[in-house]
Amino acid sequence: MSGADMAKPLLGHGSMEGDPSVTPAAGRTIGVLGSGDFARSLAIRLVCSGFKVVVGSRNPKRKAGLFPSAAEVTFQAEAVKKTDIIFVAVFREHYSTLCHLADVLVGKILVDVSNNTEINHHKESNAEYLASLFPACTVVKGFNVVSAWMLQSGARDGNKQVLICSNNQEAKRTVAEIAQVMGFTPVDMGCMSSACEIENIPLRLLPAWKIPIFLALGLFLCFFTYNLIRQVIHPYVREQKNKLYKIPIEVVNTTLPCVAYVMLSLVYLPGVLAACLQLYYGTKYRRFPDWLDQWLQHRKQIGLLSFFCAALHAVYSFCLPMRRSHRYQLIEAAVKQAVEKKMNIWVEEEVWRMEIYLSVGIIALGLLSLLAITSLPSIANSLNWREFSFVQSTLGFVALVISTLHTLTYGWSRAFDENQYKFYLPPTYTLTLLVPCTVILAKVIFSLPCIQHRLLRIRRGWEKGRYVKFVLPSATGEYSSGETSSNV
Ligand code: NAP
Repeated sequence: MSGADMAKPLLGHGSMEGDPSVTPAAGRTIGVLGSGDFARSLAIRLVCSGFKVVVGSRNPKRKAGLFPSAAEVTFQAEAVKKTDIIFVAVFREHYSTLCHLADVLVGKILVDVSNNTEINHHKESNAEYLASLFPACTVVKGFNVVSAWMLQSGARDGNKQVLICSNNQEAKRTVAEIAQVMGFTPVDMGCMSSACEIENIPLRLLPAWKIPIFLALGLFLCFFTYNLIRQVIHPYVREQKNKLYKIPIEVVNTTLPCVAYVMLSLVYLPGVLAACLQLYYGTKYRRFPDWLDQWLQHRKQIGLLSFFCAALHAVYSFCLPMRRSHRYQLIEAAVKQAVEKKMNIWVEEEVWRMEIYLSVGIIALGLLSLLAITSLPSIANSLNWREFSFVQSTLGFVALVISTLHTLTYGWSRAFDENQYKFYLPPTYTLTLLVPCTVILAKVIFSLPCIQHRLLRIRRGWEKGRYVKFVLPSATGEYSSGETSSNV
């Protein structure tokens, strides 16, 4: 393989940014067919990026005023004659009305920017349909994930990608070059068969969030039901006391931290499972099961949802003293104290427990906020790999440990109090401790020198039972090489 070939990515789905073979294209003439919202925004952005623009409209006189003066607005046939690259900013349903241009379009590059109204709306993608109507043209799919508004306002961090695909490498490179000059990041999605997938992307609703949201909702429902039984149904069944008023604030507020805490531990659990599998297999080159792969990919969203629940818990906790029920309970306690002529109700242990409980809770929320902020693309991009992994991995684990302290100081000795077992159900906090404590214990075990060393070797490419070449310095200081089993 030549040096130049080695520089090219092996996988098709790679960013085309910074490709040395891509040269600046500003000054080139670009054609746009259509004069709607997208065409207008595209023309403005192309003009701002230094391109000459010629717009092809069915009614150029009427539409000319909508475009910047630097753009030429003319009839469709006139426009396509003046350029080799034409953006087709027309809906799929109207492609057939462009067939009269077939002769003047021969040999030209058509960029299909269209979207559908439904996922997999048509059998073939819009780009493939356009290619079938104009077989003498080269069709490139691209720019459909960019909105007209985004084109006008400029490419923003985190939303800069323009997905491109085509069967013609040269045409794809030319369109990528234009996207790059416009300030976007072209991403090579391979050949034309990817067009369908690209056209479906703008129609998908938060695809990466589905599993984490269902997970959070599932956990919320489980913990909510559990807390409802303990805090509302139990007093009603045992003492005929109506505690329904607790549902909107108290039950929700005891549920949210459970979800936040368990979700945070679920961010680190797949890493622990992956390490266990690597230790068991004795290699890092064996694929993880699909469910674990999926789980690893959703850690960011799970972490953000954990932060969301923790933030809600903080707000709910602030509101607790504002409730009428709280005021009545305070007055009731004061009256009871006066009747019983108790002068000192100060319990030193309780005071300390509460101080520590609140303090570690605030620190845990602060760390979670830091994790959430650094997971934003614009912030993450400004960190190097070491800084990012320090925040997300090390500080994230510290956040989990501090959240565990927060939970333990909340529960204190309740787990050993018989009265806390409502319907024989243990206090909720004891259940939430299960997964996080497992993760913390596993991390402690992995940090033992013998295991940590083995794991590090595996992650650097060492494999169990494989013979590797080694190089040893000899007594004379020269190096000698040989073969040995890396297992030894
Ligand atoms: P639009 O405002 O309705 O404009 C469509 C244009 O198509 C019309 O202005 C018209 O221009 C032209 N056209 C050509 N032949 C036509 C015919 N037979 N009947 C009707 N119009 C015809 O739509 P748009 O929002 O600009 O969208 C254009 C394309 O861009 C669509 O494929 C859309 O999926 C895609 N897109 C749009 C956005 C967005 O944010 N708007 C984002 C991504 C992709 P003339 O009258 O001058 O010929």
